[in-house]
Amino acid sequence: MPYSIFGNKFTQHSGINELMDDLNEGVKGGDDILMLGGGNPAAIPQIQTRLTQLMQALLNEGKLIDTLANYDGPQGKNSFIEALVDLFNDIYDWQLTSENIMLTNGSQNAFFYLFNLLGGNFSDDKKKKILFPLAPEYIGYADASVSEDAFVAVRPKITELENGFFKYNIDFDALKVDQNIGAICVSRPTNPTGNVLTDQEIAHLDRLARENNIPLIIDNAYGTPFPNMIFAEATPFWNENTILCLSLSKLGLPGARCGIVIANPDIIKAMSNLSGIMALSPGGIGPEIALPLVKTKEIIKLSDEVIKPFYQGKSEKAIALLQAKISTPNFKIHKSEGALFLWLWFKELPISSNELYKLLKKKGLLIVSGHYFFPGLDQEWQHTQECIRLNYAQDDLVVERGITILADTINELYA
Ligand code: PLP
Repeated sequence: MPYSIFGNKFTQHSGINELMDDLNEGVKGGDDILMLGGGNPAAIPQIQTRLTQLMQALLNEGKLIDTLANYDGPQGKNSFIEALVDLFNDIYDWQLTSENIMLTNGSQNAFFYLFNLLGGNFSDDKKKKILFPLAPEYIGYADASVSEDAFVAVRPKITELENGFFKYNIDFDALKVDQNIGAICVSRPTNPTGNVLTDQEIAHLDRLARENNIPLIIDNAYGTPFPNMIFAEATPFWNENTILCLSLSKLGLPGARCGIVIANPDIIKAMSNLSGIMALSPGGIGPEIALPLVKTKEIIKLSDEVIKPFYQGKSEKAIALLQAKISTPNFKIHKSEGALFLWLWFKELPISSNELYKLLKKKGLLIVSGHYFFPGLDQEWQHTQECIRLNYAQDDLVVERGITILADTINELYA
């Protein structure tokens, strides 16, 4: 069946589809597959118990049927938007109104709207790209544009740290922003690396964005105030030129598909129009479940006291295992400052990271090859073939078995 140009673009092989297929296989495969690949958050018992209580209450009070039996508007459930406005104004004094917030079917959905609103072909025959100032960046951005060649990325500066760690920083000397750029976009904490852009880097990007009259998109899927999977000092950032995207997924509700966008009213209106056409309205279940948590600010307490220490502890354990089991000095770990991944760099890896992925998959371990995480980077760079992303959020035993397989394979490759 011949498809349209749009159809062909969206049916070809994409990293994010491979990743989601692997994730599904990992979920279906049960004990046979060690799933250190996808972006599934951990099943934290305390969070799951609390979410179950909230769902039970919705059922008992008849609110579940109310939510399921009614459409919300294209901007999303009003009661949840108003509760979020109060929460952000209380804790950060951002002076938001309900015109500053909309909901989407997961934040992935928001990025599709944003990249196609702000990038692509413009009426004066101009083309604008979305700029990722620090590659590697989130794999899910890579194909989220109807235009070909929609992204441009910049290689980072790499600083090697003590004890086998390294950190990426933005190379501002190499960063060029001109009229061909429609928006700047960063994830903070960054998927895949666990990097957290410093306050200075964010202030610099904000300045560049405002000077060029384009928005700065900050993807806060792992950030503050929820789920707060962030282990470094970082000040939350928003102003009228910033588009801040959040999500309920990493709090423990990826199946509810609820993304949250905070932006100026023009952007919110434009995105709500898109939402009406593409989805009628975003789903109401996630907002309804999380509403009491936001109203009482319990969402912050859970994030600070349960989610953050849980992930920080898992990260430290996984790092200790990796460092104990992998013997080559060519092995480096990106400093773990947030999110639920470790980004591993094998300098002068004898095979490509994608070949390593396939080798590990045959042994029952799923990780993600690092080469997917460089959308928009068109220069050859060996580093893109030398890294992998590992999700450390799964059960300790699964992580340990997975790391053992990885370490044996790596030690053999460097022997
Ligand atoms: N942004 C980042 C950095 C992510 O890692 C993810 C998912 O893993 C998303 C956005 C999309 O999440 P969701 O659509 O579930 O909100």
